[in-house]
Order: sequence, then structure tokens, then C-alpha cells
Amino acid sequence: MTCSRMTLLSTSLLSAMLALPAHAQDRTGWASNQDDPSAMVAVRIDGDMALIDDVKLGPWSAIYSRGLADLTPQRLAEGYQAKGGNWPVRLWSGKNVPYAFAPGYDKAGQQRVKEAIEIYARQTGIRFTPRAKQGDYLLFTNSTGECRSARGRIGGAQTIEMNPRCMASLTDTLHHLGHSLGLTHADQRPPFGKPWQASRSVQDKQYDIHSVMHYAPLTPDQKQNTAPTPQLLSEQDVRELAVHYPGAAQRARETSRPEPLQRGQLSSQDGSCLSLALIGQAGAPRNRPGYAPLPGVVFRLEPVLAACEKSKVRWYLDAYNRLTTDWAMGKCLTNTLSAGSKPTMELCSASPAQVWQFEGNTLRNKLKIKGADLRLATRRDGTLTMDVAKHSPDAQGSSAQPLWRWTPQADK
Ligand SMILES: [Zn+2]
Repeated sequence: MTCSRMTLLSTSLLSAMLALPAHAQDRTGWASNQDDPSAMVAVRIDGDMALIDDVKLGPWSAIYSRGLADLTPQRLAEGYQAKGGNWPVRLWSGKNVPYAFAPGYDKAGQQRVKEAIEIYARQTGIRFTPRAKQGDYLLFTNSTGECRSARGRIGGAQTIEMNPRCMASLTDTLHHLGHSLGLTHADQRPPFGKPWQASRSVQDKQYDIHSVMHYAPLTPDQKQNTAPTPQLLSEQDVRELAVHYPGAAQRARETSRPEPLQRGQLSSQDGSCLSLALIGQAGAPRNRPGYAPLPGVVFRLEPVLAACEKSKVRWYLDAYNRLTTDWAMGKCLTNTLSAGSKPTMELCSASPAQVWQFEGNTLRNKLKIKGADLRLATRRDGTLTMDVAKHSPDAQGSSAQPLWRWTPQADK
């Protein structure tokens, strides 16, 4: 679908198309936001299910018999204004979203769900808990077809249908939990963007490339999906959920940090971990009496990104909120004065350049440069950098990936 085609369809045509009788041949309609006629999404019918992309709207027959109440432009507009989504959704208590697995649900898939709900708890404060006796709950079920789920709280056992490929993917698991909390696809957020395409550059600032809410299904000629596979929620994902679940967001701000002295790994959004490397540099030549000077080499420990499986470095916050590790005794991660520069390992001191704060999953440094906060980030080339932390809720398109995930782990 293309936006240019969508803009040509008027609201009255939308109503006419949605009012097709249930037995009509063409079971496709358009849902839109009244404020923005370009903000239209295709509704499709698969069997008896009405869907937008991979989002189940409900049985087509039921929607039809209700006079398509959920899909009128009016309701869509109300939802847009009230909740930042593109149609109204019921929400959960952010303290307790019950979930369960259908019998025979893959064990590795269950593990992915547990990883994903840990990420939601840490980044958003929203807690998913195994179902006790609640009547409304999420039910992960096996699927041999496409993966799909509903937006928001539907009531009763609300299925999240996962095929083996989605089950194995942390990104897909985060994606469908995002729908169940009320998130729309990244390209359907205001302001409406264009759908994600493989041809889109990762530098495209109009699109939240770090969002777990991409919708990029495989086309018949594709063997592998080329969409990004973020392993954490993006800043925008977190912001949208904070609008829906403000109490949970408050909890996340208070708790999303490692316990002092608790060792663990710090992984970045692309899945690599903060580690250390011994880097040799040319130093002062060594003079030996009676001989020609030998070239000197100075080794220093530098913070680098490395594969998490290989990195044995465990970090902890000391009593002064400095990030340090037993692999560099007496040295602390240090912000080096300016945005765009690499952090270093220096002898631990009382400098604010060594004091770090976890906020959500952002790792800020206490040292301000010209009044701006700096945060630990990674560049696209996989190197570390200090990035200016933007406070504007509209801030987008940062070239750096600022999010960090703390995984407690004892030294081995
Ligand atoms: Zn989706």
C-alpha cells in the first residue's frame, strides 16, 4: 500500500467500503484518522477475522453486526486525541498484566517471553505476571501461519498467535506484547510516516528505526526479513507507553538501575556489551645505556563494545555511583569532557565525570557540558561515544543508540 493511494480515498468512501455486506467479494476497507486524511490504514479480512496488518480487530461478523462502531472515523479520531493511538483501546492495569501459555507452547519461546517481560518491567515499569485466576489475560498460542495479536485489552483469553519464527525472536515477542499494551505500528504513529521498507535508509530520521513496533512482513520473494531487530524498546516506544501507563513509568524511573555493588553486564540496543580491551600505543622510547633506544609501547585499558557471550567483564556501581569493574581495579568509567568523544577508564576520583545515573535505560553522566546532559551511547559503527541527552519529547533521529540493559550476573 502506498500513502499516495490512501490519500485519494475520502472519508465517505471509507464508510461506503466498510459498509460492505459480510458476503461481499472485496473484504478490504480503509480506516483513517479524521484529522489527517493521509493517515489511513488498510483493514483486511482473513477468514472471519478483520485485521490491520498483524493486529486482530475481531471477528468480521461481529464488527459488521455492531455497525462497524469501532472503525468509524469519529471513533478513530477520538482515540487519536485521547490516547495517541489511531483508534481507541482498553488498557490494562500496568501493575499486573496476566499471561499464560497454551499447552505445548515451545520452551524456548516461553524463555523469550520471560526475557521480553523483564525488558518491559525495566524500561516501562509495566509488569506481566503469570495468570492466577483472572478472567482477562494474554494467552500465547502456537500458530503455523502468520503471527498476530490484538491491540489493548480485549477481555477473556486474548490470544497472541506465534509461529516458530516469531517465538524464537525477542524482537517479535516484544512487538506483540507492545500491541497487547496498546501500541500501534511505528509507521502508524502520529505524525504518520511511510511503512518501513528494506530500501529505507537506517539514517532516515522520519522513522523510529529503534522501535520494536516495525511492521515488515516477508514478501513471497524474501527468504529473510531485513527489518531491524531491536532487542530493547526505543525511547519513543517507552514514551508512548508512559502516556498510557503513567504509574508504571514512575515506577520504572525509580527502580530501573542496578543495585549498588551488584555485578552485571551492560548491553546496548544492538546486543553488544560494554567490555574492556587492552590497547597498545606508541610511548616514550626506552633508553638502555650503551644501546640504541627501544621503541616504547604503553598499554591502557579502554572501554569497548564486545559480543556479550564473550565478554567476561562485570560492572558495578560503587558507593559513589561510579561504574567500575574488578577487571580494572581502582579505575572508573570516565566521561571525557565533550559530546562525541569516547569514554575512558581513569583512576577513580571524586570527579563528576565518573558519576553515572540510570534513568529508564539511559545512562547519564553527572558532568554537564554547557548545561547539557551527556549520556553513554553507541555509534552505528559499533564504537562508544558520549551523546547529548535530549529532553524534548519530540527529539528524534539521534544517530546514537542510548539505551542500555542491565543484566545482573556474578563474576565467574
Ligand atoms: Zn504488529
